[in-house]
Amino acid sequence: MYNMDSGLLGVATGVAAAAGFMGYAVRGRSSSVFGESFYHGDRSRPVLALTFDDGPSESTPRLLEALHKYRVPATFFMCGENVRRCPDVAREVAARGHELGNHTDSHPRLDFQSPRFIYREMAQAQTTIQETTGVAPRWFRAEQRQ
Ligand SMILES: [Zn+2]
Repeated sequence: MYNMDSGLLGVATGVAAAAGFMGYAVRGRSSSVFGESFYHGDRSRPVLALTFDDGPSESTPRLLEALHKYRVPATFFMCGENVRRCPDVAREVAARGHELGNHTDSHPRLDFQSPRFIYREMAQAQTTIQETTGVAPRWFRAEQRQ
């Protein structure tokens, strides 16, 4: 996942400029092609980050109940089109204090796409998530299909 503090356009341009080795750039857990990549935290502490991709969906509320029961925080990488389809679920994820991430608008593969295409996917999702939930995602994750 990538921190978007460097700006959406910078991340999108970095994604597209690296088209020649996008397989590694997108799927390589330590790839820093798009910017700083995070795939592990402080190794001196026994912790992990629990993340979910592609939602929200109709089944997300059951997941939220389980996370609540065990008091587990998570990060939900959401697709803009799914936020528009399930806006109340998206708001519930945010209301429960989970982190929200940007996982593109329509969940396309990004390899070999133009900077304009990638930018639109990221920007549309960012706008939808922020306008729907009131939360501006700070993290981006590209599609991980193999
Ligand atoms: Zn995905």
